[in-house]
Amino acid sequence: MAQFRFKALEEVLKRKPVEVKREENLVSDFYGMMVFDRPKMKKYLSKEAFKAVVDAVDHGTTIDRKMADQVAQGMKSWALESGATHLTHWFHPLTDGTAEKHDAFIVHGENGTVVESLSGSMLSQQEPDASSFPSGGIRQTFEARGYTAWDPSSPAFIVDNTLCIPTVFISYTGEALDYKTPLLRALAAVDNAATEVCQMFDKNVTKVNANLGWEQEYFLVDEALFMARPDLILTGRTLMGHSASKDQQLDDHYFSSIPTRVFRFMEDLENEAYKLGIPVKTRHNEVAPNQFELAPIYEELNLANDHNQMVMDLMKKIARRHNFAVLFHEKPFAGINGSGKHNNWSLSTDTGVNLYSPGKNPKSNLQFLTFVINTLKALYVNQDLLLASVLNAPNTHRLGANEAPPAIISAFLGTEVSKMLDMMEEAVVDRKMTPDEKTALKLNIGRIPEIILDNTDRNRTSPFAFTGNRFEFRAVGSSANCAAAMIALNTAVADQLVKFKIDVDALIEAGVKKDEAIFQVLKKLIIESKDIRFDGNGYSEEWKIEAARRGLTNLTSVPTALEALHSKRVIEMYGKAGVLSPREIEGRVEVELEKYTKKIQIESRVLGDLASNHIVPTGIEYQTMLLENVKNLKLVFSNEEFNSLSEGRLELIREIGGHVSAIKAKVKEMTEARRVANMIESEKEKAYAYEAKVRPYLDDIRYHIDKLELIVDNELWPLPKYRELLFVK
Ligand code: ADP
Ligand code: MG
Repeated sequence: MAQFRFKALEEVLKRKPVEVKREENLVSDFYGMMVFDRPKMKKYLSKEAFKAVVDAVDHGTTIDRKMADQVAQGMKSWALESGATHLTHWFHPLTDGTAEKHDAFIVHGENGTVVESLSGSMLSQQEPDASSFPSGGIRQTFEARGYTAWDPSSPAFIVDNTLCIPTVFISYTGEALDYKTPLLRALAAVDNAATEVCQMFDKNVTKVNANLGWEQEYFLVDEALFMARPDLILTGRTLMGHSASKDQQLDDHYFSSIPTRVFRFMEDLENEAYKLGIPVKTRHNEVAPNQFELAPIYEELNLANDHNQMVMDLMKKIARRHNFAVLFHEKPFAGINGSGKHNNWSLSTDTGVNLYSPGKNPKSNLQFLTFVINTLKALYVNQDLLLASVLNAPNTHRLGANEAPPAIISAFLGTEVSKMLDMMEEAVVDRKMTPDEKTALKLNIGRIPEIILDNTDRNRTSPFAFTGNRFEFRAVGSSANCAAAMIALNTAVADQLVKFKIDVDALIEAGVKKDEAIFQVLKKLIIESKDIRFDGNGYSEEWKIEAARRGLTNLTSVPTALEALHSKRVIEMYGKAGVLSPREIEGRVEVELEKYTKKIQIESRVLGDLASNHIVPTGIEYQTMLLENVKNLKLVFSNEEFNSLSEGRLELIREIGGHVSAIKAKVKEMTEARRVANMIESEKEKAYAYEAKVRPYLDDIRYHIDKLELIVDNELWPLPKYRELLFVK
């Protein structure tokens, strides 16, 4: 059996970096060549049609059928000239990944011929057979139809001769069945709420955009070794494997030079990303061996999220060209760092102001503080919801494991902003401020130093950190669709901004001056949300104790975390913001519970199989060799000599026997636990059963397998080891 492992290793040794052909000299020469972006729309569309699309994107107006026909005509001309033969509606179902169903452009022409066609209705709407996408019971199979509808705010693009049209995915009864629909709704909610608040400071603001800059972490493993690890293929992570004697102790991977073969992969990937108009910018080695990161320049959130999904797809394809497999799992290897996807998030106005950038004068700084403080309050009130939006089976291995943020939501602000908030808390009192106090406060507000834009004041252990001109939500997992976290965050902030405006207006109504009303409400919010602020070491034991004292949630249980989504408060908030209806929330919780159960079920099956047909036979084989050896020793040596010679061997034989028996017994128990859990009707109870009764066996069984790996003859071991997966390149 071990032959597979050695064959794979031989393959790897023969590898040479794959040469990459560059498109042009300058990226700017081919950037976006495969995207139907504004310059191309301008060229291919009538003035009228161009304006219709721009209005739809900038102001949310709808595009009527006549206009859609015109847009489709122009888009078709461009797509055919660019070599496209097929089109697909491209959407984000509630799975890990995106979905597409390709249709050729051809329709029947005259006299048995075909012609290429793209009508407005083909562009606007499609009806994929939706019955096999998760819906959490929203769409019973008898009403299996769902439809996809064009999202003009994200431009169409061409991949592999297929014109991809970004769409939302909705059931016939109107419920969202995807990530994009509620994301667009949440973005509209935060736009409305934030615009109203901005107008307190500047009447010229008519739109607020949310921005996202994601940082995608991933592992690369040679494809041959990957193929020899059924657990990696089927579950995305290693379910067994003793840690290598050396891994990340020497910190010698982070930011070190990139191996040539990996570098070629990155170059190739970047070229393809640029053609698709994805502004990837930063690449580097990460902390763990074979771990890397890719980050673009931030963009409008909906587009940025589409781009993240496109990049993940591209990475899988291009990795194969370079004989790598890319791993997006949050924890592919035990004992070394896992992967996350920091979500850098901010809001900016159509007047060009980043609302999370400290301004240059007291007025703009008061606006900055208004947004920071309201964000803190939103975070404080919605900690459970935000945790639920990032927690899932793979991410439980990472959160709270001393490498990623803990499973406690808190916010880091840094010294300067913290000082400002403390000062405001003390300065504003519930009576009218004296003119001196006002001046002092304004002076102080005007004095937010520029150093906060510096990288000096950084805290890597915080799940939600202010980093000078944005918040960085770090608890998001590497395999996640960013929308899950961004729907929760933007809805929470929108909800809080609405409340803020109501409170300020009430004070103004009661005769308080506007600035003072804002101060008073902000002070209240600072006090109310104080417990969510934490600038210390988030990995420490003391923080866990302190967080418990503050009453902050600390959860790594997925089914428990999901309960937060059901709370009356959350249902009301999502309803009021028009982001998710109670039925949609219910559906989503079901989908998440089911995903959780299935992921553990699959891991448990794969581990059971590998343990039974790879590991146990290997253990027995080696044990038999040892027994054979002992028998022969007995034949050759005197009793006394035999006793001393065989001692170590007998011990090994017993040790192997112990582990093999334990593995066999535990696999049997685990299978039985699965059988019992599978009979449970309720998805919620089933998820709890999988968590409590099945999941613990994964670590239990692994323990014995990893011990065996250490003592069994290396020549017999069937699976590539950590030292090979992580270091042979
Ligand atoms: P670091 O690893 O130091 O956090 P990176 O440069 O790897 O920083 O990634 C930072 C990400 O944050 C990039 O995608 C960057 O474009 C993005 N970003 C920078 N400013 C903003 C902003 N105002 N709003 C949202 N994202 C931002
Ligand atoms: Mg970062």
